[in-house]
Amino acid sequence: MKERRVIRCRGCSLNQLVTANGLCRRCRAQLEIPFSRALSVSLRILRQALGLTQQQLADRVERLQRTHISVYENARKSPTLPKVHLFAEALGVSDFVIISFAEAVRDAAGRDAQKRAC
Ligand SMILES: [Zn+2]
Repeated sequence: MKERRVIRCRGCSLNQLVTANGLCRRCRAQLEIPFSRALSVSLRILRQALGLTQQQLADRVERLQRTHISVYENARKSPTLPKVHLFAEALGVSDFVIISFAEAVRDAAGRDAQKRAC
């Protein structure tokens, strides 16, 4: 993973490149949660927002199975882009909506984690 994004630590205010372990270089606070984790949270939130069970979501797209949904929502596996596309199809949104939502979740969760840690 070669991320070159600059992020500001809410704990000690140090501006830094995102580190491999996601921790602040100075105060060791969590800068953000991994994107894969944010993606799982997003898939669950979007499904629940539509009032669908995992089975109901699976029924909407032929190649998507309930067991897959459970695996991805619990972050036991990180979905590949084709898998994200299947979810998007089932949820009736574009892939971009899911990715953007996951980015927002990651950034918000990172801010919460820093508040707790610092
Ligand atoms: Zn810090």
